[in-house]
Amino acid sequence: MSKPSDYPRRLIVLGSTGSIGVNTLSVVDHLTRNGMAVDVVGLAARSSTKSLIEQAKRFNVKHLAVADKASAAKLNEAMPDVKVFAGEDAAEQLVRQTECTDVAAAIVGIAGLPATLAAVELGRRIHLSNKETLVAAGDLITRTAATSGAALLPVDSEHSAIFQCLAGIHEQPRSKSIRRLVLTASGGAFRDWPLEDIPAATPEDALKHPTWDMGPKVTIDSATMMNKGLEMIEAHWLFGVAPDKIQPMIHPQSLVHSFVELVDGSVLAQIGPPDMRSPIQTALTWPDRVAGCGDKLDWSRLSDLNFFPPCPRRYPAIELAYQALKLGGTAPAVLNAANEAAVQAFLERKIPFGRMVQLVAETLESIPPQSADTLTTILDADQAARACVHEQLDKRRATGDLANAHLPPKGR
Ligand code: MG
Repeated sequence: MSKPSDYPRRLIVLGSTGSIGVNTLSVVDHLTRNGMAVDVVGLAARSSTKSLIEQAKRFNVKHLAVADKASAAKLNEAMPDVKVFAGEDAAEQLVRQTECTDVAAAIVGIAGLPATLAAVELGRRIHLSNKETLVAAGDLITRTAATSGAALLPVDSEHSAIFQCLAGIHEQPRSKSIRRLVLTASGGAFRDWPLEDIPAATPEDALKHPTWDMGPKVTIDSATMMNKGLEMIEAHWLFGVAPDKIQPMIHPQSLVHSFVELVDGSVLAQIGPPDMRSPIQTALTWPDRVAGCGDKLDWSRLSDLNFFPPCPRRYPAIELAYQALKLGGTAPAVLNAANEAAVQAFLERKIPFGRMVQLVAETLESIPPQSADTLTTILDADQAARACVHEQLDKRRATGDLANAHLPPKGR
């Protein structure tokens, strides 16, 4: 684990123009204004040329990566003295060819996996907010990190909370001290909706997240609670805890970011305002603590905290994620890819809300799990899952069955 002497940090931000990337840069700005030595040495984005140029100028960054080749040409023209990597493997090339100490893995989706794996192989400190890395490739990533010495620093609020709670627990191994890990969840946009209305909900309805301001993919995943299912898989790999000892808990106020129950009956929780800059800063400065830039906790809000387990009928995605983790091998990669494809189809209004989880379940059933020990097998499983979802979408379109949402049984 890193020591305070690890400064200056030389940071690459993968996915710098997305929600986490932008927040990461605002934390870097705050830290450098407060005398911390954090140099941004590389930025990667898919195609947001204008924002990327602004960021590169603001932080004086000399290495950029864009997946989109037309965007790369624009960057080269606007900033001739900057090295621009282009193409699908641009982010990975940026990681491999730019000297750095830290990599913020904030690309959304499986697209972030190869570059993150490269950073793990190189033994960097990884600020992990790309869930798919551990969901699809948890075994490969954790084994590679154990060999290379890469530190996996979670940025997801729940995992950051658990990481902080566990920091004081002696490794004996640590899992022996843990009774269970509890991942808190807001319950998403449909927490209080009548059950029978949910399947026909629109993207606008689903994008109204009650507490967190996040990108569209993760906000939809919050509404289905697939997000919590993916986080449960992530927690399994990060903390080495068995699936049946990791449980979700709805906590509408989003102030307790997760907690750890220990075997001796003690419960450790991490509490703070729902502001992503907090876990981002914790990872960036870890193991140091310095003044933060976010809101401070309003203690009066703690007078009314609620916790209740999620209803399986309202959130069938959670059970599906458990199944995938227990199946093992490439099953979580299939779950993740099928979910990405289903969320995209929902956002493009090709399927109703209630169809997303069904599509994932059908895909999981039709692709038998294989061993997931190389990047190739994982990416192949990912592709197969997407193809399977698209095939089912095409079939439905052909039979005109598209609008038939799955209606869950009545009552909560
Ligand atoms: Mg989270």
